[in-house]
Amino acid sequence: MNIVSDPTPALKGTVLSPEANQAAALATATGLLTIDLDAIVANWRKLEKTAVPAECAGVVKADAYGCGAVEVSKALASAGCKTFFVATLDEARVVRDVLPRASIYALDGFFQNTGETYAKIDCKPVIGDLNELAEWDVFCRRSGWNGGTALHIDTGMNRLGLTIAEAQGIIPRINAGDHGITLVMSHLVSAELVNHQTNAKQLSAFREIASLFTNVPASLSNSSGIYLGAQFQFDLVRPGAALYGVNPTPEADNPMQPVVELKARIVQIRSVERGETVGYGGTWTARRPTRLAIVAAGYADGYFRAAGANDGTRGAEVVVAGKRCPVAGRISMDLTAIDITDLPPNAVRRGHMATLIGEGITVDELAHHFGTIGYEVLTNLGRRYARIYKGGNAPPRIADATAEQSAADGKPAEGVPTLTGKSAA
Ligand SMILES: *Cc1c(COP(=O)(O)O)cnc(C)c1O
Repeated sequence: MNIVSDPTPALKGTVLSPEANQAAALATATGLLTIDLDAIVANWRKLEKTAVPAECAGVVKADAYGCGAVEVSKALASAGCKTFFVATLDEARVVRDVLPRASIYALDGFFQNTGETYAKIDCKPVIGDLNELAEWDVFCRRSGWNGGTALHIDTGMNRLGLTIAEAQGIIPRINAGDHGITLVMSHLVSAELVNHQTNAKQLSAFREIASLFTNVPASLSNSSGIYLGAQFQFDLVRPGAALYGVNPTPEADNPMQPVVELKARIVQIRSVERGETVGYGGTWTARRPTRLAIVAAGYADGYFRAAGANDGTRGAEVVVAGKRCPVAGRISMDLTAIDITDLPPNAVRRGHMATLIGEGITVDELAHHFGTIGYEVLTNLGRRYARIYKGGNAPPRIADATAEQSAADGKPAEGVPTLTGKSAA
């Protein structure tokens, strides 16, 4: 069957005011993802203070751990962050577009035929292999590019990085000067476990090799590494997860501020009799007459199936009308049932929002229910939610859910929150 195209050509090309856009986006949104740029900046400042006199970079790979590389990079830069790490060249391009002067490193390194792009973006590869280094050198010699590179030395991760012996082989080049190496770095295996023996081993291996790279800044620590003490901080620290509110010290209280709040719309409220089951597989049985709120978020939104509940196991909790309520049954692709029987009868109505992250539910708590870590929760945050950015340098803003509309509008009006959805994010 043919689908008739949109019969309302009158609406085509209509440009809504930012206020109307905001209202429309909020009215239709089934989920609201709020990212607090002020909290990200506060977290960065705290890490910077902890690491001083080391420089504090910002890791904004994977779209700033799902929080939006453009918005986060701009906010960090205006707080004074000068060095940024991304994983890929495409991510570097996104950061460069908004930060013409920042120093940008790409962690995945150099591979064939990317030299021109590195130069064009003015991005430095993090090189972790001698072949890569040789290819980079050829490119630099032929093109005259001298934008610099980091050298990654492996001290136990066995992922990327030159061996210690290979790194020692570079020392004559360092001593000869004009070597093009702007940073020497390694990466910690178990930094979040304070007493893990690998930390001390990696520290002493890195300290020794880094000391041979005369006058080259050194970097070892990710978020958790910063909290292992001053000797782990060297010249530059590379926090990612802690910026976004994940606890870098999981054995102790979280020193960071929460950054992400996630709310999803209640699309239906229904009652089930005692003995009835809820959801796919019928794995959860009502043990009393039960009221359910059906919330418009599911595993396609990054609300992992692992957080479901069955007759033997409790799942995640959601805050409804200010009170924690448990998930009932399996989590579906787009929907999740919440047991709201313990709420007062009129506490909540269809159309209200339930809080999936926030109001005391942390990314780390949710990660526990998902059987994973906060990093994976953040990098899977759904693309269907309307995004609201709070704080940062500018007044709160909402970018419209359609990129074309935002573009047509030019910049959002002063004081109007900006909401970005799917494409714009
Ligand atoms: C991702 C990454 C970081 C940031 O780690 P967090 O644990 O998120 O702070 C630092 N360095 C390297 C090499 C990384 O890959």
